[in-house]
Amino acid sequence: MTRRLVELSGTAAAAALSADSVIVLPTGAIEFHGPHLPLMTDYLIADSVANAAVERAAEAGQDVWILPTIAYTKSDEHHWAPGTMWISWDTLMQTVVELGNSIAATPAKKLVFFNGHGGNLALLQVACRELRRRFGLQTFLMGATVPPGAHDGPEELGLGIHAGHSETSLVLHLRPELVDLSLAERSVPEHLDTFEHIGFKKRVTFGWLSNDFGTNGTLGDPTGANAAYGAELFEASVADAVEALAEVARFDAAGAA
Ligand SMILES: [Zn+2]
Repeated sequence: MTRRLVELSGTAAAAALSADSVIVLPTGAIEFHGPHLPLMTDYLIADSVANAAVERAAEAGQDVWILPTIAYTKSDEHHWAPGTMWISWDTLMQTVVELGNSIAATPAKKLVFFNGHGGNLALLQVACRELRRRFGLQTFLMGATVPPGAHDGPEELGLGIHAGHSETSLVLHLRPELVDLSLAERSVPEHLDTFEHIGFKKRVTFGWLSNDFGTNGTLGDPTGANAAYGAELFEASVADAVEALAEVARFDAAGAA
């Protein structure tokens, strides 16, 4: 049986869902990913990992359902680059709050944002609390892939956050015909590494646009990307998401037995 909620009739959906059901809403992005990757990279990754994870979780007996992936999100850091299709933070906030309102009108009470684009993170954290307070939903925010860091490419200095080794490898695994590795270039803002406290994953973060760094808009080193690594990362991400969804299913913030 399908776990894509919108493939059911409204009547069947209402009958299938209960307060224990978990609804997964993937969030992608359509944005410039260097000359070598498709605009749909974040959409593709969020959509593929989320659908595979929900399918596998359902096979394992979990009461989990998936909604269509939101394609257009908050990509204003790449606003300057060709092909980026972005909506403003307040439009996206309004959209996810109103979708949460609709979800809260179903019997389901647990919502997981399954996010494939870093630029959405802060906003979705705020949305999680907003939906908790306004509609009583139990909300969660999950990254589409296992945490980066350990998965950065060797030449990325921890700065491989966009169109670099991991993302390029994942797309080489999922849709190799959409990648042109001959155009891939290392583009790492090494000068950032001279700051001890300020950085993407450090104690002090900063507001940035992807054309601030004097690089080509890629932040990472895609040159060593390969499909085998992409397959490994995809599998690890799906397996981890299935485990995380099982925890979501039994999660109770009040600790009641
Ligand atoms: Zn991306």
